[in-house]
Amino acid sequence: MSARAAASGPMIGLGAPLQSSTCSRADCRDAGRWRLDWRNPRIHSSDRVKTWLACDEHVDYLSEFLAARDFPLVVSPLAAAPEPVGDAQ
Ligand SMILES: [Zn+2]
Repeated sequence: MSARAAASGPMIGLGAPLQSSTCSRADCRDAGRWRLDWRNPRIHSSDRVKTWLACDEHVDYLSEFLAARDFPLVVSPLAAAPEPVGDAQ
């Protein structure tokens, strides 16, 4: 978990319409319960935020996948309004 990941997250992108409501894990078709707003600093400018959805089973897998690459990441419950401050646990 990177404490600095969400410190300067851009407002744009958060709350953007989602193109899908299912888990972003390959081959998983469960409904997304979590949203992972992330970006790759090497190829994305600061206003390009990608959003993945994750079911309860895969939220850990997907967040660890992104954290392992040191990508800025905010994980939010899908039902709640996303907060720009991460580390809700
Ligand atoms: Zn899943």
